[in-house]
Amino acid sequence: MEQHNPKTGSAALRILIVEDDVLNTKLFRRLLQLEGFETLAAGTAEAGIALAIKAQPDCILMDIQLPGMDGLEATRRLRGLPKTADIPIIALAAHAMVGDDHLTYEAGCRGYISKPVDPRTFADSIGKFIAGATKRNG
Ligand code: MN
Repeated sequence: MEQHNPKTGSAALRILIVEDDVLNTKLFRRLLQLEGFETLAAGTAEAGIALAIKAQPDCILMDIQLPGMDGLEATRRLRGLPKTADIPIIALAAHAMVGDDHLTYEAGCRGYISKPVDPRTFADSIGKFIAGATKRNG
């Protein structure tokens, strides 16, 4: 599946992973890279926001439970910044939070994936999500 990043001219779509669990980050990066995505990662909300501004990823995977500033607040801030307002954000949340997913949509997330993720469908569902988000943005 050949995908193209219209902003960077790169052949691959870039995904920013904001996640404090190092093993999760490793797993997500591996699954996405196997499908041809470029990945970037940050372990805190603050670092994630800074990297999103600088790197202009095609999509952000946002862990909701982060130390300090949580993923909901980080999403609100990204939505409020001109440079990141249009980047689609997918919330990543533990099963215990299912049912609270409306909170993530209220904060400005456009998608929701519960953890632990299904390695067989993870990268594909993110690809489909980006394709859908791009269509909606024209
Ligand atoms: Mn976490």
